[in-house]
Amino acid sequence: VLSDAQRQTIYALSTPPGKAGIAVIRISGPDALRLWRSVVQLKKTKQESLPEPWKFYRCRVVHPESGEVLDEGLAVYFKGPRSFTGEDVLELHVHSGRAVLSSILNALSCLPYCRLAEPGEFTRRAFAAGRMDLTQVEGLKDLINAETESQRKVALQATAGQLRGWLTQLRTDIIKCLGHVEALIDFSEEDIEEGILDDAKQRARDIARHIGEQLSNFRRGEIMRSGLQLAIFGPPNVGKSSLFNFFAQREAAIVTNVPGTTRDVLEISLDIGGLPVVLADTAGLRETEDIVEKTGIERATDRINTADLSLFVLSLPDLVNGGSSQDSISKNIDSILASEITSDNIYVLLNKRDLLPTETYERLESGLQKWNIRGAWAISLATGEGTREFLEKFEQILKERYGLVDEPTASGPRPLVSNARHSVHLETALRFINAFLDTSDADVILAAEELRYAAQAVGKITGHIDVDDVLDVIFRDFCIGK
Ligand code: GDP
Ligand code: ZN
Repeated sequence: VLSDAQRQTIYALSTPPGKAGIAVIRISGPDALRLWRSVVQLKKTKQESLPEPWKFYRCRVVHPESGEVLDEGLAVYFKGPRSFTGEDVLELHVHSGRAVLSSILNALSCLPYCRLAEPGEFTRRAFAAGRMDLTQVEGLKDLINAETESQRKVALQATAGQLRGWLTQLRTDIIKCLGHVEALIDFSEEDIEEGILDDAKQRARDIARHIGEQLSNFRRGEIMRSGLQLAIFGPPNVGKSSLFNFFAQREAAIVTNVPGTTRDVLEISLDIGGLPVVLADTAGLRETEDIVEKTGIERATDRINTADLSLFVLSLPDLVNGGSSQDSISKNIDSILASEITSDNIYVLLNKRDLLPTETYERLESGLQKWNIRGAWAISLATGEGTREFLEKFEQILKERYGLVDEPTASGPRPLVSNARHSVHLETALRFINAFLDTSDADVILAAEELRYAAQAVGKITGHIDVDDVLDVIFRDFCIGK
């Protein structure tokens, strides 16, 4: 049941305030057409006739009381329920300027039957009307905030309802399975065919496998949505901060502030080959007695341990000082790489190659190709030598490891689970299904409950199930006009 406030017609500016060619004022609710008659004056058609839906009209926007012309623009009527919110919706496309917009919004505020929309209220109405489910609402929010290609793709998948489709199917499958089990409970044993429990268990195992597959891709989805954690580490003075600045000064750096920036760990958001990357510069790793520096280093170690990938920076001249012959230098580097590249999540940058005498560097070059393959590059951040090659290769590695691959399934491309809220509920559903499998032989009536909980957990993701607390959190982050 809707409250009076929920039934009221709402309006808001849906484009950012500021000077621009056009601004869109959106109006939604039962009195949208009444509002049209009060403020929209058509240029051609007779004033009395009602607008045809989904058609742009050239018009004057007038004050409902004084009749003063406030601006000229376009008006369009979206007839409910085939509109964004499911209600009658109007859009006024007017000139974007402070005085124009405030005069129109003030004029609308004179109308007693409408009010200014709250943040996210249009989308909330779309959800209430069943025009979108929660995964689409969250997808829309992600789409508006998307800054890189991969973020746009994942968000669009969700907005377009692919995740909703997959989850709806999943929930249906669980309920079907439950139906079989209930048949088993409701009828006496002679009435039903042999093997019906086995059949239900097989269905449950298939469902569990599907959920498991989706969860195993979760980290990849999450990286595409919220960013790959990349840490820079290495001894003091090798060029870590120079590397950080090198990334920051590239065109593709998205210089938004990442929360949690501290004195010791600097962070920046980057776009590397379309993938969102959160790059952290850590304090130099070295033994220290200084307590302040110690916390910095501990934090840095933390960061390296939680990062998806790390770039380990070393100074090439420092390595070379340890040896004199070409052989011993190569061996030196070899053994360092062998001990430092402990996982395939670490890449090595041998910096300051400009400081090596040309002939020393040339003698090392043949060995460098071998190191490239293992994920090590010789660069100079001072002169830029080798940085382009490194960046190209690194972009390619990120694309291969984390890029969106459209894995087609029977029902179209497999949507990625990229949102922690979704993965939590999927894990819960999986636990209940496994509980069903474990207990159904012993007590089928109790086991059926587990399936019911599993269906509920999936329903919470799409918003089928009571989720008022979740709703507030999700819609709060929208701005007014969305
Ligand atoms: P960090 O302590 O590891 O963060 O190292 P910094 O980035 O602060 O660099 C330490 C010093 O090395 C600075 O004076 C840099 O200008 C210098 N440096 C960094 N990269 C290079 C390089 O490729 N060649 C040369 N010659 N100097 C460099
Ligand atoms: Zn530094």
